[in-house]
Amino acid sequence: MSNSSTGVAGVQSYSGLLVQAELGAVVGGGATKPPQASVSAAGAALGTITELPSGGMSAGKIDPLRGYLSAEEATAAGRVERYALQAVAREALPGHRVGACLRWVHGGSGPKKRGRGRPVARGVEVWRKVGERKAFYGGLMTCGSVFVCPPCAAKIAERRRVELEQAISNHRVAGGGVLIAAFTFSHSRADVLALILGAMLEAFKGFKSGRAWVALVEGWGLVGDIRAVEVTWSVQNGWHPHLHVLWFTQCPLGPEDVASLEEDFSARWRVVLAREGLRASGAHGCRVQATYGAVADYVAKFGYESERELPWGVTAELVKSHAKRGRRKHLTPFDLLRQALASPDQAPRFLALFKEYVAAFKGTTQLKWSRDLREKVLPDTEEVSDAEIAARLEAPAERLGRLSLDDWRRVLHANQRAELLRVAELGEWPDVLAFVAALPGVPGGREPRVSVWEINRR
Ligand SMILES: [Zn+2]
Repeated sequence: MSNSSTGVAGVQSYSGLLVQAELGAVVGGGATKPPQASVSAAGAALGTITELPSGGMSAGKIDPLRGYLSAEEATAAGRVERYALQAVAREALPGHRVGACLRWVHGGSGPKKRGRGRPVARGVEVWRKVGERKAFYGGLMTCGSVFVCPPCAAKIAERRRVELEQAISNHRVAGGGVLIAAFTFSHSRADVLALILGAMLEAFKGFKSGRAWVALVEGWGLVGDIRAVEVTWSVQNGWHPHLHVLWFTQCPLGPEDVASLEEDFSARWRVVLAREGLRASGAHGCRVQATYGAVADYVAKFGYESERELPWGVTAELVKSHAKRGRRKHLTPFDLLRQALASPDQAPRFLALFKEYVAAFKGTTQLKWSRDLREKVLPDTEEVSDAEIAARLEAPAERLGRLSLDDWRRVLHANQRAELLRVAELGEWPDVLAFVAALPGVPGGREPRVSVWEINRR
């Protein structure tokens, strides 16, 4: 263990920057600790940024008055928030695999004894991408739960976005067209999410079956689709499940054709909704647009970002959360976690909603490709599962070092997982060790758990 005093000092002055200390207090340890994060805490943290030595922080130029973050800082702050939201989800869902994600240590089988291997931890590795200030962990379990886990969801969304963009681009180059359709229906505050979500998915199945559907496919030259299932929640209207569907057509359609297809789709959507006891909202249950710009982004970024905002990260979220609460009407699932974190008095209510959402979405696929579409528009790309994406390490990268289980226990106990990565990004391995050494020691506890199971295969 290094005792580099400069490293410790640098790290300590840095530790207020990403508000992890405050968030750690919010979500750490026992399940009953009320969130304490506040605007003033975030503001104080922002204030410390300007006091940092410029040497290790060339990208961290921040105006303490405006709270401006550079792109790199915003990315780092976004990661702090994802870890903090994951900790909230973990406490809300005891026994869920999200609780092991980026906490439990992968173990290899130890020496066999009477046919049983004892798990032996390989340790927690800290890696850094070559040529970039981006650090990440190796040797930890990942849950790959796109609906529940903010760190996994962000990683999965990024990979899916690239995949969708490639598919759209390939199809266009080959002379095809791509549309985006939104399917909604009328709902009320009293609706139970699991019921209306199931009914909507059944209706969509019905939409794409039968003779009427075959006629639409042939009439419009429909090649295939990728559907994303989403939900938001609002005080006024309760749960609002809906579908965003990318539709691949043989030829690009002009505005008049798109309007006409929208009428056809809306008419059929009303019919299949009625079979499930639902009805369309307003004149159009279905909206269809020709795609442009960041459509792949739109479809892939499930639950994480709200209202198409830039990934501001935790600092801005905390600073703006009070102002936002009134303005933001439709909350994404991860907004529910954000709200639980930001308003302690309302946390039980938001966490109850989050749990209802998790239960309702269990077994649902977030992005679903229609049969054979992948071979047509993305033939050369290997299909990978969410779990595989979450578990994959980025390359090329170098391993900075390996933490002992004792060290990892301290990091977990202090809720400093994201903070440690930032230290690894800005410094070197001795700085990381010094950072861990400065954390309070922890008497033996339940964590870190070591497992030989792949939780994401369950
Ligand atoms: Zn996860």
